[in-house]
Amino acid sequence: MQLIDIGANLTHDSFDPDRDAVLQRARDAGIVQMVVTGASREHSPQALKLAQRHPGELFATAGVHPHHASEYTAECDAEMRALHAHAEVVAVGECGLDYFRDFSPRPSQRRAFELQLQIAVETKKPLFLHQRDAHADFMAMMRNFDGRLGPAVVHCFTGTRAELFDYLDQDWHIGITGWLCDERRGQHLRELVPHIPADRLMIETDSPYLLPRTVKPAPSHRRNEPFYLAHIVEELARDRGESIEVTAANATAAARAFFRLPAPPAV
Ligand SMILES: [Zn+2]
Repeated sequence: MQLIDIGANLTHDSFDPDRDAVLQRARDAGIVQMVVTGASREHSPQALKLAQRHPGELFATAGVHPHHASEYTAECDAEMRALHAHAEVVAVGECGLDYFRDFSPRPSQRRAFELQLQIAVETKKPLFLHQRDAHADFMAMMRNFDGRLGPAVVHCFTGTRAELFDYLDQDWHIGITGWLCDERRGQHLRELVPHIPADRLMIETDSPYLLPRTVKPAPSHRRNEPFYLAHIVEELARDRGESIEVTAANATAAARAFFRLPAPPAV
């Protein structure tokens, strides 16, 4: 079984002491490729560096998360564009809107998002999107770019049925995390995932966040890592009434096509 983790924040400080061991555990668990999320001015260049150290196995996104939108200056825009000149950077983002936390003022969020959508138009790279409690504005902004954007994935989808169908109507992809493995918070999601077409469904750990609650016993540090991706596949397969092998193979094929990844390096 080959798996691809499409969203891992592997530049996070919590991986500093043992990043190589984390990668090796992932490899041993059949995770053949990973897309390292770049979500800030500080971490996007680090994501590229990490991808460059592991050619064909690690890839990066470059972007600025809505939480960091205040840092999206003209200089930052130039830095993002420079990162996108590299082939290892396979998607624009993480970018989008987050009105749940409002860590950056909403006008800054919309501005940073719009400038990154412009980069996606120009580079023709796929989009790695974040949306929380901002669905109407998010849809309106995406609609302004109708017909000019390539493929898009709404990562870490935890939204409503109506939101899901809005995304599917736009032909976007959906990223599912270990949120699904939470027997309380993930219940509504379990009923929704069977509606996602197999070729538009991808899986991600969002490490080090969102440790699946099905990991037992939970590690004392509560840190999530790509190795735990299998827990998400398992729950997803159960909810979709598929075998684990089928769910895994479809998600891997979808991710490889979406990010235009080469065949994984032989081990
Ligand atoms: Zn996110």
